[in-house]
Amino acid sequence: MAQIHEHDAMICRACGREERASEGYPCTTCGTFICLICTFQGVTQCAKCRGEPIPTPPMPPATNA
Ligand SMILES: [Zn+2]
Ligand SMILES: [Zn+2]
Repeated sequence: MAQIHEHDAMICRACGREERASEGYPCTTCGTFICLICTFQGVTQCAKCRGEPIPTPPMPPATNA
């Protein structure tokens, strides 16, 4: 049984978070993924194009499976 699971998440190159690729916009310089949250905050370029290091997102609680 193949389950079709559309996982379109991408890492935002401005904030480092994983967001839905279909809801983001490309960096105006290099075209890499910028998430919708950053776009709302006026970010149109990724951290690299702004000459900044890509921030690391807060780690989710560790899950010991
Ligand atoms: Zn972002
Ligand atoms: Zn860029």
